[in-house]
Amino acid sequence: MKTNCDKTVWIRGGCQCEITPQPVGRIWRFVLLGAPGVGKGSQAELLSEKLGICQLCTGDIFRSIKHLPESDITPALKLAYDYMARGELVPDDIVIKIVRERIKCLKCPNGYALDGFPRTIPQAEALDQMLRESNVKLDAVINLTMPEEEIIERLSSRRICSKCGAIYNLKNKPPKIPGKCDLCGADLYQREDDKPEAIKVRMEIYQKTTAPLIDYYSKKGELVTIDGSGTVFDTYKRLKAALDVNGEMPD
Ligand code: AMP
Repeated sequence: MKTNCDKTVWIRGGCQCEITPQPVGRIWRFVLLGAPGVGKGSQAELLSEKLGICQLCTGDIFRSIKHLPESDITPALKLAYDYMARGELVPDDIVIKIVRERIKCLKCPNGYALDGFPRTIPQAEALDQMLRESNVKLDAVINLTMPEEEIIERLSSRRICSKCGAIYNLKNKPPKIPGKCDLCGADLYQREDDKPEAIKVRMEIYQKTTAPLIDYYSKKGELVTIDGSGTVFDTYKRLKAALDVNGEMPD
């Protein structure tokens, strides 16, 4: 399915989706949880393709700073980028402010997968509040899981397109031309926070701050845990088997 989703709208803010024609069929709204490298971004990309939903990734907003003209980089965005480059979480007040500026995206008529937000309990509470204000409900909070060794291997071989953000993996999803994006031909790069020192910091932070979200959403009855190992298609099949009781998701 061709998605109506324009990632740049989320990245830059200023959503106009209220005027987008309502798509036919079921609207899905998900949050994707899971340790760094478990495949949230790749799964969100596939869900976007299969279900026509938008991929709303807070990391994409922070990464885009690298490509903004100096004059557009606010002090808050600059600060956020520095936290990210060190592999640390961006402070809650900055992240919540940035998502709140994009609150219209939470009412998107295409549906969406929130990828990388929320990451802490205060962010989850802020999201609950924004969803209430927007009068929409999530279908599920998907918790992707995988053994730690597999995660570390995946992260160190991940490469990202510097222009369109497409995700590659040198081992199981290499680009056709080394170092170049299959989709737009731009150069691929390794994220600062996929380098070994930053991976270690991110895994520790995940255990401390993000893992409690599993308990939070499990108590709310919204959590669905899915094994994220194997290919992105293997994970999608498991996700469909767990969520698609009425046969509304394509194979
Ligand atoms: P991701 O693309 O989701 O792996 O995010 C990349 C980096 O952006 C993270 O390691 C954090 O530094 C920062 N980041 C993204 N989303 C959040 C968030 N919700 N809260 C705090 N930091 C975030």
